[in-house]
Amino acid sequence: MTKRAARAERAALKTARNVFTPAPQKVARVMRMLARALPSLELPAVEKISNEQAEDPFHILIATLLSARTQDATTLAASTRLFKVARTPRTMVKLSVKEIERLIYPVSFYRNKAQHVHDCCSMLLTRFGGKVPATMEELTSLPGVGRKTANLTLILAFRSRRSICVDTHVHRISNRLGWVSTRLPDETEQALYAATERRWWPSINLYLVTWGQNVCRPVYPRCGDCVIARECPRIGVQERRTA
Ligand code: SF4
Repeated sequence: MTKRAARAERAALKTARNVFTPAPQKVARVMRMLARALPSLELPAVEKISNEQAEDPFHILIATLLSARTQDATTLAASTRLFKVARTPRTMVKLSVKEIERLIYPVSFYRNKAQHVHDCCSMLLTRFGGKVPATMEELTSLPGVGRKTANLTLILAFRSRRSICVDTHVHRISNRLGWVSTRLPDETEQALYAATERRWWPSINLYLVTWGQNVCRPVYPRCGDCVIARECPRIGVQERRTA
């Protein structure tokens, strides 16, 4: 067999494995590889806050609210400034929206987020006795809290093993890997419940967000440095153009 024929055969085998291996096995292989690679990488901001604040549900909820469409370093700095001034719903609600704006700037949409933080704290006090609720239905009734924020709060603060938190990284990478074929993050969340084993659900966000921030970036992912490259059909990934 010529070298070229051997290469073609290896490529065909790889494709066949990706197409015919049941999704749960593919997912398990990738998750185990990522678990080994993660310790050398920087943790996402909300995970850091969760570790530093002893998994305080209120801090996790507010930091996740601030993190939407915002760089991790900015989220971390803004959350730290805010929690230095107000650590509980009771102290937070005493701040004016303008003060919260000043403390969280320059997170994206800081005006809307400051209003949401203030309204959210009011509702925590009036409806939930100052405690962060522990169900999806109650969490998503809070101002500014969608499924992503609710799921991350459930996973990090309440150790839920029945939630998958899907953000832009999880949505992008699980489509690139061929685990799902979806257009929107909400569809991805539902598709992932069907395509993955329950034991991975709480880890999917941490693993894929860390990978998305460091390796599988939105534009020009670093496929050459990627430890899961042989498991990845790279669906929808555009080749970098050379001059
Ligand atoms: S091989 Fe490329 S597209 Fe696939 S996970 Fe790795 S970096 Fe992302």
